[in-house]
Amino acid sequence: MKITKTHIKRALRKLGLKRGAAVIVHSSLSSIGEVEGGAETVIQALQETVGTTGTVMMPYPLGNATIARVFSGSPGVVRSFHPTHSVAAWGAKSEEFIKGHINSPTACGRNTPYGRLVAADGYILLLGVDQDRNTTLHTVEDYADLPYLSDRRVEYTDQSGRKQVKVLKKYPGPHRNFIGVDRLLLEAGVMKIGKIGNAVARLIKSKQMVKVLLKELKKNPALFLCDNPNCMDCVMQRWKISGLNLKGEPFRLTAVNDEISGDTDAVISALKKEGIQYVELRTVGGKSLLETPEKVLQELKEKLSGAKIAISGIDADITPDRNPRILEKGIALAKFFSAEYIVIRPPSGKKNGREKLVEYLKKTSALAEKEGITLVLENMTDTCGAGSKDCLEILKTVNSPALRFAFNPAHFAASGEKPFIGTPTSLRKWIRVLYVNDGLFSGDARLPGYGNAEIKELISIMRCRSFNGFLSLKPGLDRTINTFHKAVRALQKLMETM
Ligand SMILES: [Zn+2]
Repeated sequence: MKITKTHIKRALRKLGLKRGAAVIVHSSLSSIGEVEGGAETVIQALQETVGTTGTVMMPYPLGNATIARVFSGSPGVVRSFHPTHSVAAWGAKSEEFIKGHINSPTACGRNTPYGRLVAADGYILLLGVDQDRNTTLHTVEDYADLPYLSDRRVEYTDQSGRKQVKVLKKYPGPHRNFIGVDRLLLEAGVMKIGKIGNAVARLIKSKQMVKVLLKELKKNPALFLCDNPNCMDCVMQRWKISGLNLKGEPFRLTAVNDEISGDTDAVISALKKEGIQYVELRTVGGKSLLETPEKVLQELKEKLSGAKIAISGIDADITPDRNPRILEKGIALAKFFSAEYIVIRPPSGKKNGREKLVEYLKKTSALAEKEGITLVLENMTDTCGAGSKDCLEILKTVNSPALRFAFNPAHFAASGEKPFIGTPTSLRKWIRVLYVNDGLFSGDARLPGYGNAEIKELISIMRCRSFNGFLSLKPGLDRTINTFHKAVRALQKLMETM
């Protein structure tokens, strides 16, 4: 049996669509069954139901949305000009809804057809499609100002044929799970479900939907995200939500650049994805910073500052057994990058004495103090700075405000010490950098929280003393972008359970 216009109109009225109403329609013609007269019949039924005092809108068709495509070409239908979220509109408020869509800073927020429909107490009709197609949920995300929204740059040709660029604010990420809100809307009484032909039709009061969901999002900003741990989109968006919690933390998060990639653009993009605002520089293109040509360093600096990523510190492989002049170079480099610290390592080989290291640190920390830079001594396996008590002795003997400690828990574990339980608590006040570097007692690296380095206990105790230095991600694994993201996930998990 063919579905007629009368049938559709009756079903729409039964759902609650009244004369004079404004409605945005997302639809699938084929889901209805065989409609007499096809898409045009559905469009006429909608127009006749709301009447000339009402308004009908549909997103400008992308792909093969038949009803919307036919609608956008129908008499009296106007289109909003927008590169990503254009709508076609007919009826009393069509002009008012679409005007200046392109001028709104966001695609679906206030002063867009979507936001105006909400303000006008309009309806959303999902005809044979689910909440995944409900564009007004982006309006909700926009109003909630969710942490995972970000800027998106779009290029388009304007109405006079000129190429234009616009940065759309609060643009949503690739994947979300909107289907989950269906039950919520039904239970809150803001949505009615009926049938039009075979199509399940949902009629939603948009203003009330926004109200209900904003309240829900306050409790759970991850409401729209999926739970699939392998969905990197949602995993990252969740991280952005909990990443905000870092703002309440006393410490700052940084990451060693070459642990992510040898390519600066890749490093920047990975840091941006994780919302990390600092980087620790070690090597560039496989070369030590001290051997990197000035031109390359200049370029690196510009790229990082363009991306608003600050340099926490530099690690130019400085040890006392190298040419003494290299520290001066290191300081110049730290100043060039506005870095806060320079990593210093004990000379390799246990016998290469502690006295020599202490002498070196006394001299160099005096120089660093004058230059306003902090030197951080990192504990290293198989050196005179392998044991925690040795490190503490060295720091106390040098006793300079320009010398602090870079605590590497994986190195302590590899030296057979328990980094949290086994090291002196008085060492903690010297810590300026805590490496997020986990590993087994055997020396094998592991993701944070999966080794013997007691990372969680260390972070927890350091935040108890309002540690305002750096947590520096140095997973020590295969130095790939993927592993870096896994390490961030692992750290996130540790932070979430503290
Ligand atoms: Zn997902």
